[in-house]
Amino acid sequence: MTAAIIDGAAIAERMRAEIARDAARFTAQYGTPPGLGAVLAGDNPASAQYVRMKRRACEQVGFTSTAHMLDASSTQEQVDDAIRRLNDDPAVHGILVQLPLPPQIDEERALRLVSLDKDVDGFHPINIGMLGMKGREPLFTPATPTGCMVLLRESGAVLEGANAVVVGRSNIVGLPVALMLMKANATVTVCHSRTRDLPDIVRRADIVIAAIGRAEYIKGSWIKPGATVIDVGTNKIADPNTEKGYRYVGDVEFATAKEAAGAITKVPGGVGPMTITMLLQNTMKAAWRLASA
Ligand code: NDP
Repeated sequence: MTAAIIDGAAIAERMRAEIARDAARFTAQYGTPPGLGAVLAGDNPASAQYVRMKRRACEQVGFTSTAHMLDASSTQEQVDDAIRRLNDDPAVHGILVQLPLPPQIDEERALRLVSLDKDVDGFHPINIGMLGMKGREPLFTPATPTGCMVLLRESGAVLEGANAVVVGRSNIVGLPVALMLMKANATVTVCHSRTRDLPDIVRRADIVIAAIGRAEYIKGSWIKPGATVIDVGTNKIADPNTEKGYRYVGDVEFATAKEAAGAITKVPGGVGPMTITMLLQNTMKAAWRLASA
């Protein structure tokens, strides 16, 4: 069997076109576009690249974007002040604090400062807490896990009663996606670096979410025939056959997994394009909520 490819790039493009139409309606109605504000502290090149990508994505859909760029030696007060200014700015509807923050900054305190109404990254402890509680709905859910859920739904996977295995338990991917799968009535197993017999656990999964950051670690022989596989991993590996000398692969060994899975995402072109799209979608939702409050 060769799996159907869940085309994150195409799904993200379609959703961004919808968001752009929505943004145009918003701008016509309120005379000002939806706005995203970012706080970036430090000189992590990957973080700077993410913030640039998010700014470009904002421009493409007709949002404004504001960025507070602080250096690696910035103080807690400076980070807090940047967040407060975005909280108070009526032209900013969504705020993202780009993680990781420099070590002297208390991440928990910074995330707590973000106005709940503008928490489009979904990382405010209250939003994460509501995600974990039965009968409660957070205002916003984190971008990458939300993107995984959209891809699952688009693939036609049945979530209710399914055995879902999440490999990885990070605050930004593994944990929230496990909570979202539980809310969708899947039976969820969360695996991590101390998990015993990982291949056996993965073999029982109807749905596999791989988020560990290890190149092609999960093999096709671990995948239950027909399972749906969402590969969040983005690992840079050397490849002298490419122009740049490297390429990106997922946490799943795609070549073997696609022979067993029913549906699978690619890296790149799977979860990656969905992440910023979900952030834009949350910002659009925040803008409508704040404007009608
Ligand atoms: P973290 O490093 O924060 O977490 C990795 C998790 O994987 C941890 O829970 C760790 O366990 C677990 N783990 C590590 N090795 C193993 C192993 N051998 N077996 C089982 N579990 C293991 O990573 P992130 O969650 O931030 O990111 C995961 C991957 O997803 C990365 O490749 C990252 O680049 C990618 N990513 C992609 C995004 C996108 O938009 N496409 C967005 C965010 C991340 P323990 O808790 O015990 O340490």
